[in-house]
Amino acid sequence: MANYNFTVPSLGNKYIDFRTEIIGDSYNWSWIRPMSQVTSIAIHHTAGPDNQTPQQIAGYHVNTLGWGGVGYHFIITPDGTVYYVGDLNTARAHVKDRNESSIGICLVGSFMNGKTPKDAQIASAHVVCSRLLFESPELPNLNGWEDISGHKELGNATACPGDSWAQWKQKLIIGIPQTPPVADEGQRIIEITKLYQVIFGRTPDQEGLNSYVKSRYTIDEIRKILTESIEHRQILERAQTYKKFFALATEARDHLAIAVQKVDEISQSASL
Ligand SMILES: [Zn+2]
Repeated sequence: MANYNFTVPSLGNKYIDFRTEIIGDSYNWSWIRPMSQVTSIAIHHTAGPDNQTPQQIAGYHVNTLGWGGVGYHFIITPDGTVYYVGDLNTARAHVKDRNESSIGICLVGSFMNGKTPKDAQIASAHVVCSRLLFESPELPNLNGWEDISGHKELGNATACPGDSWAQWKQKLIIGIPQTPPVADEGQRIIEITKLYQVIFGRTPDQEGLNSYVKSRYTIDEIRKILTESIEHRQILERAQTYKKFFALATEARDHLAIAVQKVDEISQSASL
């Protein structure tokens, strides 16, 4: 029995060793291979619904197709959870004629007509691939990102991993930066809109709002940026000018009032 203990500590609880739980034989089927035989990683999609579970995928392979176990080594769900399902020391069934030399990673979903995997899914795939390529001395013949291929690039007549593969292959290689733990996006929209109203006296333009909502700045930092902006300085200058005119106008009005009073007095005394 093969039992290769592969872990990905940086994924925390988004990595689950599911070899024991999943339907079928994860430790012997299809056959045990030396790790040094592995020269490539094949990326797949399920071509099915987003909510398909690893257990359902394995159930299809075992109960419908009659295989001894699940066809892949890893399954990654849209939320970025990675399930280790088929022992790396075994060949599975995912690339015709190349099962002995490849590792199969399957992303749940159907990536056709421009639909791509979720960012969390791609980010997790990147982390798993990095660990296999660069941090697994037991896999000496996996050397770099050139060893990653979409299923259809490995000589099989298939659309897998979908016709949008070219769009997300590069993302998978580069990795998606972890988004900052931005509190609640709706709450940020409300607070930033309020800042615009108080500081600029207007509602935010869509572009400005979007970039601040998605930024790593805290609300206090955004307040500082807005108050130090050219737009805000211009508003203050304009306010100063208004104030000056207002003072002059007030003064003029007072003079006029006195003059009117004088005229009244004169005309009254004249009519007496
Ligand atoms: Zn495939």
